[in-house]
Amino acid sequence: MHCGCISLGNVKCDGCRRTIPYPERYLVVEEAGERRHLCVDCGSSQGYVHYLEEKDQRTLTFFPQKS
Ligand SMILES: [Zn+2]
Repeated sequence: MHCGCISLGNVKCDGCRRTIPYPERYLVVEEAGERRHLCVDCGSSQGYVHYLEEKDQRTLTFFPQKS
């Protein structure tokens, strides 16, 4: 199960190891019973995150990956 969350500033990305500052969004991914946190960049490069362009705003969406 994957879900997107808003960082409160105390979350570290398990991809690039940087701290995800508030109010950046991040992704929680469960793999093999392990919970990983991914920033938008890492989630995007791993195919979890997509942007939707709508009129004058950009919406961030998280797509669950089927295994
Ligand atoms: Zn990252």
